[in-house]
Parts: sequence; C-alpha cells; structure tokens
Amino acid sequence: MIPLAESAGVGGDGSLLATVAPGSRSAQTLRWSRFLAATEAEGPGVRAAVWLQGCAVRCPECFNPQLWADRGGVVSCTAEIAEEWVAQAHAAGAEGVTLLGGEPFDQAGAAASVARAFRAAGLSVMTFTGYPLDRLAAWAEAGRDDIGALLASTDLLCDGPYLRDLPDLSRPWVGSRNQGVRALTDRYADEVRRIAGAGGADRLEVRITRGGGVEVNGWATDAALAALLDDLGPRIDSPAQVAARALGRTEVEVAR
Ligand code: SF4
Repeated sequence: MIPLAESAGVGGDGSLLATVAPGSRSAQTLRWSRFLAATEAEGPGVRAAVWLQGCAVRCPECFNPQLWADRGGVVSCTAEIAEEWVAQAHAAGAEGVTLLGGEPFDQAGAAASVARAFRAAGLSVMTFTGYPLDRLAAWAEAGRDDIGALLASTDLLCDGPYLRDLPDLSRPWVGSRNQGVRALTDRYADEVRRIAGAGGADRLEVRITRGGGVEVNGWATDAALAALLDDLGPRIDSPAQVAARALGRTEVEVAR
C-alpha cells in the first residue's frame, strides 16, 4: 500500500518491537476500554475516539500501559456497538472516528467492521498502530484479510512502535520520530503534507468527571503531564467533597 501523502518516520529500524504479526481473532466481538463521542486531541478536527483493550506490541514507557492486557475492558457485539458509536458521534458533530489503544490491529477484523460502519455513515477513520505500515501491508498481502480490511478502511494512519529514545515534539499525534503519519486516502492528504512541511503541536484534553476524577486524553510527555496534574486542585463540588463537608469531615483529596 502506497500512502498518498506521508510525514514518514525516521530511524528506529533496529527495534524488535512489532516484528511479529498479530494473532487472528473473531470479528464478531470487540474488546474495548473507552469511547468518547467528541474530542479534539486524537486527530484532525472533532472526532469520536475508541480505545481498544489489548496490545501485544508493548513499547517501553507506553502512554497507556493499562490497555495492554487482553483481559479487562468491555466485550461487545461489534455490529451493535459500532451502530451505537456512529449515532453518538453524529449527535456530537464529529467528522470521524479515531481507533487507538491498545492496538487496533490486534483485533483487526472487528476494528475493520467498526471503521466500515463509520465510513458508511460518511465519517472518516484514523487508526493508530504500533506496527509499521510496510509490515502490515506485507502481512495483508500474505493472506491476512482482516489486516487488509482495516488498512482499506483507514483514511489516516499513525504507525510504528513508540521508541522512548527518539522523542518527537515537532509533529502532532505521534510520540517518537520513527512513527509515520500517512494519508491512505485523499481525505487528509493536504493535512499530512502540511505536517510533513511545518509540523504541528500535540493537544491534551483533561476532563473532570462528576465523581471528581480526572481523565486525560491526547499526548504529552510524562513531565508535562505531571506538571499539569500537579496544578489541578480537587473539584470542590464532587460528590465526595460535598459528602465530606456535610459530615463535617476534612475534605478529601482527588486521587491523582
Ligand atoms: S503500540 Fe501503542 S498502545 Fe501498544 S505499547 Fe506501543 S504505544 Fe502502547
């Protein structure tokens, strides 16, 4: 598969990460961890985002190690959950969906079904993967139709393992310089050309839940994230804080 436009990764060819093809799994069910109907930190524009559960690549200092395990998360009927997510994304005004993880290609058949549902509704698909595109294309060529289907349903691909020794602060979405940002259709080709020429910045979104918890998505260095969260005080109207005040107890601190 030849991308229409790319901000290709450089270096990191000696890494042994992501050299083994992912196992083949049923497309009927999807194991996932989190869904957002609208975010501006996981690709171009306003997008829905699906965090899949399970990643066999396991890059050291990955931003989401809680998503590595094959157990946990939620297991859903792929067709049903895809229909529900498309409806929520439409209602939220999203222009597309981003599949990330976890590792979408470890559940390539199910992830491809989700991607096709968004495409059928006129929405775009961005996919993050720790596997380099040339390996994915070779595995698809060798008969892995599930991998080929997810590639064929993806407009914008960020590929390659995260290599902590090659940090990349000049381009959006990717964490290390070996990773690629590639337009597989013309939908985001201009955006990819712009990034190849001028780079761009990452975005980080912080949500305070009703329970007073802090949820973060997007990408930042560990140091930047720690500095940001250190500045966040406990949300005073959280149920835990309100209950503590009502009982005359010392207000509880938000867990960080
Ligand atoms: S491929 Fe992505 S989710 Fe998996 S370990 Fe690497 S950075 Fe983490």
